[in-house]
Amino acid sequence: ETVIVLLTRDLRVHDNPALAEACEQARHVVPLFVVDPAIEPRHRADFLSCALDDLRSRLRELGGDLVVRHGDPVAEAIKLARQVQAAGIWAAADVSTFARRREERLADACAGERLDFRLFSGLTVVPPGDLVPIGGDHYRVFTPYWRVWSQTRKRRVLDPPAQVRLPANVDPGTLPAPSPKPFGLLKGGETEGRRRLDEWLGGGLAGYAQGHDLAAVRTSMLSPYLRFGCVSPVEVVTRSAALPGGEDYVRQLCWRDFYYQVASAFPELPRRDYRPRRATWEDDAEAAEAWRQGMTGVPIVDAGMRQLREEGWMHNRLRMIVGSFLTKRLGIDWRIGADHFNDLLLDADIPNNCGNWQWVAGTGNDTRPNRVLNPLRQAKKVDPDGECVRRYVPELAGLPGSTVHEPWRHPAPVPGYPAPMLNERLLP
Ligand code: FAD
Repeated sequence: ETVIVLLTRDLRVHDNPALAEACEQARHVVPLFVVDPAIEPRHRADFLSCALDDLRSRLRELGGDLVVRHGDPVAEAIKLARQVQAAGIWAAADVSTFARRREERLADACAGERLDFRLFSGLTVVPPGDLVPIGGDHYRVFTPYWRVWSQTRKRRVLDPPAQVRLPANVDPGTLPAPSPKPFGLLKGGETEGRRRLDEWLGGGLAGYAQGHDLAAVRTSMLSPYLRFGCVSPVEVVTRSAALPGGEDYVRQLCWRDFYYQVASAFPELPRRDYRPRRATWEDDAEAAEAWRQGMTGVPIVDAGMRQLREEGWMHNRLRMIVGSFLTKRLGIDWRIGADHFNDLLLDADIPNNCGNWQWVAGTGNDTRPNRVLNPLRQAKKVDPDGECVRRYVPELAGLPGSTVHEPWRHPAPVPGYPAPMLNERLLP
């Protein structure tokens, strides 16, 4: 019999539960990716196209192929199922409302065609909803979730299939063309993701506990690979947990699972405040645009926003600082910030982006919603020598040491760099 594995955000052959099970159980397997015009990949188009190209090569090495179609994933999967006389369609379960609607439509269509429809866990370490508090419905706060999550036995890391047996006469279809202007610092794909993972485990991880709050030091940068499933979160956790310094890192990965389970339990969270903070937000398009452009006149904020524009990635500390600045200093709606991040981040996904934005804005399920990050104090802590600001805000590169964080104290105005958008009294 033949099984179609509909790949979505699990673009890998290593530790891919749906693919592994299909290759073990079925005589023939069709790994399928459907390019859905309803999903606008924004600046992630190039990363995705590289990831698909790499996945196709890997599957070909295993004797199979990546079959690509363009259109509605449900209609295309069913059409292909009829063509190859498949017995089932299997996929990895997702949590966003959009993805869950697609899963429901696919389940209905499969029922109508008498196809075996199965969902596998593949996007998180612990499946959302698996852990529930005693006497409660869902975890809303991270620390109790982490306590239970860290004690939970993780599933075994699966090897790539020994062989992928594609049925005869399947047209592999064409991959989406790479964008003419590649964006970002990172190249998509399982090969590159695994290379970075190996490098990280053998190098950066050891200093993570001490150094991960320093803005000039790059953290693992595995987030875009996790976003598209080019690397498996179970594998990342299993391999890093065994190494010195691994616990702090694993704890961060638990945040990712936490936000997936929150998004799964509270589907309205991506748009609606969990705990409304203010009746109205400031309607200040000019300030929002200065923030987007990295022209607020507050160097650490501008460094973060420009890193995002140049690299499609931003250090976690900078994300917190720019987010707090937008929502708590400028009083601008977090959704404006989340939309901009969603446009430019290679790692943007709904649970993590919206979950973190609500955390920063104090509208989420956080225990300290009134926390306001002081950008200047933060700058001196996370970028003590000003290295990060000098890297991304070249107008200020000539200012020595940490004076780079307070250009307004400089005797002469710095050409091309704006005065701070906030009253200086508010800054220190
Ligand atoms: P590392 O520090 O190396 O951490 C390893 C992994 O742990 C990350 O790849 C990520 O999967 C996970 N992780 C770390 N911190 C968090 C966190 N706070 N929440 C959830 N997972 C975490 N992360 C996204 O993956 N997608 C987003 O859209 C996203 N939006 C964010 C928006 C805001 C306002 C903030 C404050 C944070 C956001 N984050 C998001 C979380 C975090 O900033 C990134 O995951 C991290 O910076 C990615 O870099 P890294 O892989 O080098 O992280």
